[in-house]
Amino acid sequence: MSWPPKYDLSYVPPGSAEHWDKRLETMPPPERDAVILEKLRGQVRYAWERSGFYREFWDDAPVDPANLQSLDEFAQLPILTKEEVRQEQEAHPPYGRFLCVSPEEVYRIHGTSGTTGRPTVFGISRGDWDRISEAHARILWGAGIRPADTVMVAAVFSLYVGSWGALVGAERLGATCFPFGAGAPGQTERAVEWAEMVKPAALYATPSYALYMAETAREMGIDPRTDFAFRVMFFSGEPGASVPATRQAIEDAYGCYVVDQGSMAEMTPWMTNGGCRHLERGMHLWQDIVYTQLVDAETHELTPMGGEGVPVYTHLERESQPMIRYWSGDIARWEMIDCACGRTYPTLTSGIYGREDDMLIIRGQNVFPSRVEDVLRGWDEFGGEFRMVVERERGYLDRLTVQTEVSAGVWAAAGESGPQGLEALRGQVGDTLRRALGVGVSVELKPEGEFERTQFKARRVIDRRE
Ligand SMILES: [Zn+2]
Repeated sequence: MSWPPKYDLSYVPPGSAEHWDKRLETMPPPERDAVILEKLRGQVRYAWERSGFYREFWDDAPVDPANLQSLDEFAQLPILTKEEVRQEQEAHPPYGRFLCVSPEEVYRIHGTSGTTGRPTVFGISRGDWDRISEAHARILWGAGIRPADTVMVAAVFSLYVGSWGALVGAERLGATCFPFGAGAPGQTERAVEWAEMVKPAALYATPSYALYMAETAREMGIDPRTDFAFRVMFFSGEPGASVPATRQAIEDAYGCYVVDQGSMAEMTPWMTNGGCRHLERGMHLWQDIVYTQLVDAETHELTPMGGEGVPVYTHLERESQPMIRYWSGDIARWEMIDCACGRTYPTLTSGIYGREDDMLIIRGQNVFPSRVEDVLRGWDEFGGEFRMVVERERGYLDRLTVQTEVSAGVWAAAGESGPQGLEALRGQVGDTLRRALGVGVSVELKPEGEFERTQFKARRVIDRRE
């Protein structure tokens, strides 16, 4: 097999086909391991020969990167962290010595926003861009999107590669693309008007944004179920699409089904954790495009199926800036399940439900904001948005306060007495949260509309501990 693989960019399966590439997607896992190893050997040897960074990084490795013999040998290469990528790029700007093509061969530059430190730069070659579009088309096919569909991308088009990946995948698949964008003042109202007029079948956005768009539509007198025509929504960038209550809220609001996707921008093609149209929750790991290993957060040993760990990702066909054994810092659980789609990939059955650094440790308990979101969205009186405030009492005891909006109707019914009239309700929510989280929680009720609606990645945790 030649590496990197070349794809026929005019190929599209018949619309009735369940799979884009039935052989690759449904082969027995041991056979797939052989496919992965073959691609991995090509990818790792290539990086070893061309990247000054990996040359140094693997210098002490107990295996020969130029001639890997097994997936077990591969697992002995060191894990690469975001911090190491940052330091390398700082020392050798802009790409670090990750770049394995000449700078003139970089076709697109993307990156992280760098809101929490030095941004990370991604140089992407033309060949890689084509392979990204191929991979995303294949995964969108699995999500049930077909060439006759119109795909609306209501997410920001910027350095952030998420929206672009959704766009090129939809283009490659032969769908009608509607790159709407997001983030400008008044743009959500415009999105509602356009979605009503164009009637796209598919939406790419963040889960928070889809909920916000439904709320905006209702305020404008537009019913998201009957006045739009969304059949499928696919999401990345937030865990919500695998949070049962959030997913249900979106499906109920639009009368569509939801597909969760996404790994990390560094790993573009990033939809290689991707649900299918049959999967009720979670994401398949499209292992022959990006190879994902779930490992123990402490020991870095491979997590057995059924266990919880941190996804570590490896490109299998990236010639420009390959990431090999890249530590995501996310937390997920993997299992082999029988999905109606027939794919034989492992599945992150609850999606990505936490990040090591989002995960709050409160009085020794691990608390994930996505769990709080799940409880609140399952509650009839919920007003749509919440915040979690963590403080330290008397210098050593953690205290978690969940500030949650209650729906306008419930708030109004409490009338003049305000929050005091809602005391019983507050008690109920507090009990439910305490049971779900296993830690004590104070609850403050707020009127609907109190908190800013998050259009992008939800930032709902306020940690005031020193
Ligand atoms: Zn499936």
